[in-house]
Amino acid sequence: MDGRADAVVLFGVTGDLAAKKLIPALYELTRRGRLDMPVIGVARSAWDHEQLVRTVRKAVTEAVDVVDEDAFGALASRLTMISGSYGSPATYAQVSAALGPARRPLFYLAIPPAVFPDVVGGLTGSGLAARGRVIVEKPFGHDLASATALAVTLRGAFDPERIFRIDHYLGKEAVEGITAVRFGNRLLEPVWSREHIDNVQITLAEEFGTQGRAGFYDRSGAVRDVLQNHVLQVAALLAMEPGGKAEELHVLRRMRPLTPAATVFGQYAGYADEPGVAPVSTTETFVASTLRIDTRRWAGVPFHLRAGKHLGATATEVVVTLRPATSALPGAAPNLLRLRLGRGDGLGLTINVKEPGGTVAARPVPLDVDFGSVLGPRREAYERLIDDALDGRQDRFASEETILEEWRIVAPVLDGSVLPRPYERGSWGPETAGTRPTGGWHPLSGQVRQRD
Ligand code: NAP
Repeated sequence: MDGRADAVVLFGVTGDLAAKKLIPALYELTRRGRLDMPVIGVARSAWDHEQLVRTVRKAVTEAVDVVDEDAFGALASRLTMISGSYGSPATYAQVSAALGPARRPLFYLAIPPAVFPDVVGGLTGSGLAARGRVIVEKPFGHDLASATALAVTLRGAFDPERIFRIDHYLGKEAVEGITAVRFGNRLLEPVWSREHIDNVQITLAEEFGTQGRAGFYDRSGAVRDVLQNHVLQVAALLAMEPGGKAEELHVLRRMRPLTPAATVFGQYAGYADEPGVAPVSTTETFVASTLRIDTRRWAGVPFHLRAGKHLGATATEVVVTLRPATSALPGAAPNLLRLRLGRGDGLGLTINVKEPGGTVAARPVPLDVDFGSVLGPRREAYERLIDDALDGRQDRFASEETILEEWRIVAPVLDGSVLPRPYERGSWGPETAGTRPTGGWHPLSGQVRQRD
């Protein structure tokens, strides 16, 4: 890569993602001295510069406790607003003029996927793509065929090393840290296999629903929204061999496609009445499934996956259940290793100690560490990822091959053969006899209120 980017162009600056994540990340990068460059917002809405600055102020105020006025002022002074149609060459002529001498712009496509071809076409036609990099957001297609088509569109415009596909889970310290925990501890390294692990449970649960975006969600569902990307990424990091991206791809290739027989879909009560939802929608707001991985390390070990909305808690948590000790005392329970990956991230381990008293029996007790307390505040995923893309670093981005593998894995449950069963809001999804883990799902330890 030819050096750090020297401008950011944010398509969809008027949108939800820009307000919630991207503008706060750009502010934070400015505050740390990592964003001394023009920031150009593009959208169809007829916004002027003042409106953009007001929106940035609002987004930053909502994201941080105290606004650093010097940093805010610096960011505001670098902003330019361009309003225009994404399909019109005039829009790209304006972007080109606003970029001035910038030679390595970073284009962020925070727009609905339907608009991608227009913007990629506009960037190519104007010659901007040739010198720029692009960040694209999930969903990377709707299924394997459309993901392949999107990959072709992007590759037609940008060199592969200039395409950055965000799965923001890869930018989370705790998710990235899964491999540090696995490979950095002699205590865990030798037990991390079928010899010692009975099953792995991965949950991505949200207490809330579609938050006013039911129309968008209804075309997606829990598999496309989070299981195909975030949950499978976590599974890959838990299951891969040491060795980086190539090993991550290798283990994804060894994951069997999910089967309808081992999958349950659910839909929370009242979903079909939400504005934008089809009257007889079969979109799943909950999914539970069992993943099988054909490697020497994992043969026979089920990876139970579940994700959904309006569940009993908001948490992203992995629970690894070890096999029982060879000569366990009465009262002993299998060791559980918990990795909390959402807000309030941390790690827990249950370990058997002696039950006080005259009889020799065991009692499992929890050891727990909250990463926030011991490691202090860490940078937000979007801030880290944008900083990486500005530098041209690919390691924390999803690759085209990874995304296509993930679509291959979920394809058999996306053909309409699995129909959702109703469940009550605040429950843990529909009754799933036959597909729930032996012994049931472990209750989660980390329960916070916001998705991140
Ligand atoms: P959004 O708010 O629905 O749309 C972003 C902007 O795109 C809108 O402000 C709008 O700006 C423009 N737009 C919307 N519909 C359009 C249409 N039919 N044709 C042309 N322009 C249209 O989307 P978002 O939630 O910010 O998400 C942006 C991208 O990030 C999407 O690909 C989404 O899947 C992905 N993503 C979002 C989130 C999230 O939390 N929001 C999380 C992960 C990924 P103008 O009308 O002003 O042009």
